[in-house]
Amino acid sequence: MKNWPLEAFTKVKTPFYFYDMDMLNEHITIASNAAIKYNYSIHYAIKANHHFRVLKEMKNAGFGVDCVSENELLEALNAGFSPSKILLAGVGKTDNEIRLAISHSIKAIHVESLEELEVINELAIELATCAQVALRINPNVNAYTHPSITTGLNENKFGISLNKINDLIALVKNLSHIKIIGLHFHIGSQIEDLSVFKTLSLKVNEVWSFFISAGFKLAYLNLGGGLGVDYYSPDNSLPPFEKYFSVFNEFLNVGHETKIHFELGRSLVAHSGNLISKVLYVKKGDEKDFLILDAGMTDLMRPALYQSYHQINNLSSKEEDHIYDIVGPICESSDTFATKRSLPKASRYNLVAIRSAGAYGQVMSSNYNLRPSPKALFSDDLLFSESLQTELKLVI
Ligand code: PLP
Repeated sequence: MKNWPLEAFTKVKTPFYFYDMDMLNEHITIASNAAIKYNYSIHYAIKANHHFRVLKEMKNAGFGVDCVSENELLEALNAGFSPSKILLAGVGKTDNEIRLAISHSIKAIHVESLEELEVINELAIELATCAQVALRINPNVNAYTHPSITTGLNENKFGISLNKINDLIALVKNLSHIKIIGLHFHIGSQIEDLSVFKTLSLKVNEVWSFFISAGFKLAYLNLGGGLGVDYYSPDNSLPPFEKYFSVFNEFLNVGHETKIHFELGRSLVAHSGNLISKVLYVKKGDEKDFLILDAGMTDLMRPALYQSYHQINNLSSKEEDHIYDIVGPICESSDTFATKRSLPKASRYNLVAIRSAGAYGQVMSSNYNLRPSPKALFSDDLLFSESLQTELKLVI
């Protein structure tokens, strides 16, 4: 929480997201340097946080971008990413999304099924061009992460099963308007055990050589995202970018001419984002005491969705610790940010920061209960702009 403008926070309508741009840029730079060392290229997974300011930083770092919807693709173009650095993924792409990707000649559409491949071929014929694709393979590798963000097992809906490869090879021969440039894998998110990436690499080697021996000319390999962050330590823990890439460097064996890509999301943006909220009530319950915040699951859904841990700081109190359940105002018992959490004794209007909320935070907010979407403030400018303070000024 180094250099946070706490005085300014008290003048802004809560809840809001506060982005520490120094931290964001530090993480981007370290990731970028680690990737450059191995000649790997990073495509930022825009789904983690699509804010224009964030996209601009990613673009300035020279990253490409990984999109999963028409609007993400348009926003990436709007932010100035070259189509040659844009990827489109997703298990259920609409015809319009596919048309948009083909007509902009993006780097690759990541294809998740044989059925989708046929549709892409038809749409490419309609547009009288050839669609450049990579095949997303489901390697059946366990990511040992939360089941809701595990994507590389046979039971998951993602990617083309290894059991379908022979059918795929037969199908491809009949598709005139498809150019297959390579393979794509993404087995899950918030992966903390780096040995998972060794297992993935070894599986990728097998699949890769199978395709090569089947006569495919592949020059593109995308290993997805997934690198986890330490939610228990938002201030002093850099995601282990260097170790992460070094695992692939050690175990991948796909030929030097193959260009290797990653789609990192969470690890680049998680720690720099914070949800700033206000205590509305300190409620004494029969069995526990509750801190009732003005932020709820509509502003940050991860704890309700995945029971995920976020560090929470009381920014206004230095009193001795007390145990609270920290909850939002929504009529759902899952609207709970933390249970049995020890925090300095709180009182009404204290400011509270929910940390490491930069990834899958603001972008997953909803308007349930007709609650407004939380605004974003950035450490390097917006917070100090007078017009913004006027717009947002409201101290409950
Ligand atoms: N690539 C794909 C296909 C994804 O589905 C995701 C997120 O789930 C990512 C990349 C980004 O993953 P992460 O944010 O864990 O790095």
